[in-house]
Amino acid sequence: DSPRTPLMVGNWKLNLDHLQAIDLVQKLAWTLKDAEHDYDLTEVVVAPTFTSLRSVQTLVDGDKLPIKYASQDVSSHASGAYTGEVSAEQLAKLGVSFAIIGHSERREYHNETDELVNAKILAALGQGITPILCVGEPLEVRQASEHVAYTLAQLDGALAGLSPEQVGGIVVAYEPVWAIGTGEVATPDDAQEMAQAIRARVAETVDADVAAGLRILYGGSVKADNVKEIMAGADVDGALVGGASLKVDQFAPIAGFR
Ligand code: PEP
Repeated sequence: DSPRTPLMVGNWKLNLDHLQAIDLVQKLAWTLKDAEHDYDLTEVVVAPTFTSLRSVQTLVDGDKLPIKYASQDVSSHASGAYTGEVSAEQLAKLGVSFAIIGHSERREYHNETDELVNAKILAALGQGITPILCVGEPLEVRQASEHVAYTLAQLDGALAGLSPEQVGGIVVAYEPVWAIGTGEVATPDDAQEMAQAIRARVAETVDADVAAGLRILYGGSVKADNVKEIMAGADVDGALVGGASLKVDQFAPIAGFR
């Protein structure tokens, strides 16, 4: 039995306004309640856009919902002349528990480097927000069979200079770029291979106990009908879900797949 509590995270990306966001959170909470979902056995997190976080906070607090929420990004800066940025402190004030950091879409469309990802992780940790660090290789790297080395290099870059205690406060999501939003899901063996490699690397470079407790998610076209096989990997502790997290009939069974 794993000592790690499974974690299911819905990444809504650039979808839903704040009214649609609270509607979806409400429906998700009702559905999981009907299913007698045990949040102590599987943590459930949604990641709306910044503009919906306040509304989601009001709903979650008001109705005492056990659902947690994440931001999809965070600034590496604390405050100042950084137009368009949102700080970890501002997010913490809104009750944000997790921040997705270094998603492949940010690396690709916003030129985020491992160095910036590292700075964002530190900013989040500094405000008590759990970073969900995304790593994973593009298709050509997979085809060249260099996916493990590539992904571990991203991991090393993101964790550079962090103390074991700090690494103990993060979650890692392995998201092969070729499997995101494509319907192309990595095999359970692919997911397990990388999750195991990530855990081994953290054991080697950081600390064995931290590695044993580290939650490692898989992301890439996870759906209600494939979550169980993906979760079968001994080192896979949850999923980061894009498209399927926008539909209650998909995400509720993912959250409660057991
Ligand atoms: C994601 O963007 O984190 C993701 C895994 O997307 P999808 O589930 O749509 O592939």
